[in-house]
Amino acid sequence: DTIGRNLDRAVAAWPDREALVDVPSGRRWTYAEFGAAVDELARALMASGVAKGDRVGIWAVNCPEWVLVQYATARVGAIMVNINPAYRAHELEYVLKQAGISLLAASLTHRTSDYRALVEEVRANCPDLRAVHYIGDSSWEELLAVADQVTGDQLTAREAELSCDDPINIQYTSGTTGFPKGATLSHHNILNNGYFVGELVAYTEQDRVCLPVPFYHCFGMVMGNLGITSHGACIVIPGGSFEPAAVLSAVQQERCTSLYGVPTMFIAELNLPDFASYDLSSLRTGIMAGSPCPVEVMKRVVAEMHMEEVSICYGMTETSPVSTQTRRDDDLERRTGTVGRVMPHIEVKVVDPATGVTLERGQSGELCTRGYSVMLGYWDQPERTAEAIDAGRWMHTGDLAVMREDGYVQIVGRIKDVIIRGGENIYPREIEEFLYRHPKIADVQVVGVPDERYGEEVLACVIPADPADPPALDDVRAFCEGQLAHYKIPRLLQIRETFPMTVSGKVRKIELRETYRG
Ligand code: ATP
Ligand code: MG
Repeated sequence: DTIGRNLDRAVAAWPDREALVDVPSGRRWTYAEFGAAVDELARALMASGVAKGDRVGIWAVNCPEWVLVQYATARVGAIMVNINPAYRAHELEYVLKQAGISLLAASLTHRTSDYRALVEEVRANCPDLRAVHYIGDSSWEELLAVADQVTGDQLTAREAELSCDDPINIQYTSGTTGFPKGATLSHHNILNNGYFVGELVAYTEQDRVCLPVPFYHCFGMVMGNLGITSHGACIVIPGGSFEPAAVLSAVQQERCTSLYGVPTMFIAELNLPDFASYDLSSLRTGIMAGSPCPVEVMKRVVAEMHMEEVSICYGMTETSPVSTQTRRDDDLERRTGTVGRVMPHIEVKVVDPATGVTLERGQSGELCTRGYSVMLGYWDQPERTAEAIDAGRWMHTGDLAVMREDGYVQIVGRIKDVIIRGGENIYPREIEEFLYRHPKIADVQVVGVPDERYGEEVLACVIPADPADPPALDDVRAFCEGQLAHYKIPRLLQIRETFPMTVSGKVRKIELRETYRG
């Protein structure tokens, strides 16, 4: 169904239960209050001239208004465009123009950025942009003030025109492997996906879910918000940007039952000096996704954060996002060695990337997915859509995977990250997992860089455990000698303080390759 009608059912079923809590400001909404706030904003958008199919941008870190904009735009059939909070002026201009955004909802500031100044810098170049309203500013009040010009009946009439296959959201991919692409998604795509993610972690109206992951990304707005409200559970916002201590305080204070994060977030929380002082006993589950989780981290999440039922999800923005997920009773081996098995009503297959022929179980090839979850297409990029989705509606993920005999899927790595050295295929993850054990290495990324003789050469980018005592290339090579095949042993080493990251918490290997060349 549509997101608006799904919310109506939640409001009718659980009017007095909490829907949304913002910990920093202490603001709280029951389902009845949340439904009313969404309706008010939806009528305000209609009164401001937002028609079905118009693009409404949201440019903000996590806050309650983000969630209200998500549901209000869906209710009026507008297409919400998620804008990366880290964007600077030229990137903002690109997305405002590329998506043809007519109304923008924005924060006033974020970290050192003055959003209002950035908007003013590009506004003259964006002829479609008619209105900008800043959250927490008088311009937000002005937006809400016009809500009364549209009646509830007019809103209901608008909703009656909507179909679940209408586009309602443009979500940009993380930009891990290049420039972000805008995936166009429908009610049917993302509401179903959020619902099934919630089903597999068995959410009920008793659950309270702490969301430190960005709403800007599908992890927050689909697996989070839609998964939660379709089950009458409560969204708990621990803060605008990720702060490990604020997350654990929010879990303790709000007695959260579930916590989300990419592996690096859980690592930061577990490494807090006062980690043991937080009462996390209310947790039972959570979701970890986005990149592979080291085994040691998973063990501590289960044992020390009480998340016995924590779920691993695999997916991509283009597939709404989740395609495979672990189940509640899966053991540690399945939670760390695999990304679960296929979700209900979705198909997956593993094919030879060169021929497209489906491979036997146990063999590694490109993972393809098909089902309700596959996006409508990349916004205004039909050629790129045709490259990604084939004539049989299979989405080609660009990820290398193995389907095991038991149906569980293992991710081997991204096709784009495979290093081809002198004709040998090298998977960076295998080398990274090995180098993590080196005592002088705190974190490591392995990439291929151009080489005249071999085509590509193996470069290890290392964050040393002690910046004053970084490992030398000879150290690293000696460590690998006899343990890794000779062609996999890094020939080049770069010591770094940090890695370039996406807002969704992934390392941009493409930038590591580029800075090396530079
Ligand atoms: P871009 O497409 O712009 O380069 P991106 O692929 O990182 O960026 P997302 O859609 O946010 O953008 O991420 C999807 C990708 O994340 C998948 O294709 C896969 O490579 C990786 N991924 C997602 N979940 C997992 C997981 N559980 N384990 C390993 N990798 C994962
Ligand atoms: Mg991608």
